[in-house]
Amino acid sequence: AKAEGKNRYSFFSEQLLKNAMDRLQLETDLRQAVEDRALEVFYQPIYALASGEIIGFEALSRWRHPLRGMISPVTFIGIAEETGIIGELTDHVFEQASQAVLEWQEKYREIYPVNVNLSARQISDINLLQDLLEMLHFHKLPRNAIKIEITESLLINNFDGAQSLLQALQQAGITVLLDDFGTGYSSLNYLHQFPINAIKIDRSFVRQSTDSAKAKGLLAGISFIAKQMHLALVAEGVETMEQLRVLREFDVEFAQGYLFGAPMPKADAEKLIVKKVHP
Ligand code: C2E
Ligand code: CA
Ligand code: CA
Ligand code: CA
Repeated sequence: AKAEGKNRYSFFSEQLLKNAMDRLQLETDLRQAVEDRALEVFYQPIYALASGEIIGFEALSRWRHPLRGMISPVTFIGIAEETGIIGELTDHVFEQASQAVLEWQEKYREIYPVNVNLSARQISDINLLQDLLEMLHFHKLPRNAIKIEITESLLINNFDGAQSLLQALQQAGITVLLDDFGTGYSSLNYLHQFPINAIKIDRSFVRQSTDSAKAKGLLAGISFIAKQMHLALVAEGVETMEQLRVLREFDVEFAQGYLFGAPMPKADAEKLIVKKVHP
């Protein structure tokens, strides 16, 4: 029995070692992929519910690993934050997104803005705004070409840093959306403490909105608050016609979700611009 225990022990330590090696390898590969500008940017369409017309996109990063296949940002964004390469990753997304907006503008004579996600670690990045403005200037794009999505966790961790970055973004005329709204500790508190332009209702509320009158009431409340505070309102994670119907009922202005289209490569996103209206 003792020998068995020992074997088991070495099995576990081997497993731990293997996990650690895997993780280390993944970090190395990610660093390389970011350096090579090998990450892809996918685009998920956002529609205005009143007209049914496409109004822009959210940029979502994808990493096609040569051996492991497609890796979710849920895995690699965390690694990018911990290893300090999130800034470079975001620059790449800014570059790709502004190039896409520029191409579409040249072809379709209209700006289809792209929302870019910021990670919590970037709140104290003093170069971020400067880099973004330079990128827009370089492409001769207006300030509304790229919008910024931030989450509540980003606001809690560094209140003063968040305050000054958001103020600087506002002054520069860059639109800021508060992502995953309602999932944090004091969502309502943030609305008046931070300068933001829009809120994205977390998909958990969208999902529950068709379950009960209570959940519907919550959605109605968020919609009311947004209106009172002159904030644009975007619903995310819309998957069913029934959810869409409820969102319309409460005057939610914009929506995105699998019902309209999953995040997709640029060429497919462009086809949706041509189509203009969602099915
Ligand atoms: P998020 O910003 O909340 O993005 C929305 C997520 O919901 C995306 O997952 C999207 O693919 C997914 N989604 C869209 N429509 C639906 C739907 O109808 N139903 C369901 N169930 N899901 C839907 P994804 O692409 O895996 O991204 C996960 C998270 O990773 C994002 O959450 C964001 O926080 C982060 N992320 C992705 N790309 C980037 C990036 O370039 N930079 C940073 N900092 N974070 C990123
Ligand atoms: Ca987002
Ligand atoms: Ca979200
Ligand atoms: Ca999220």
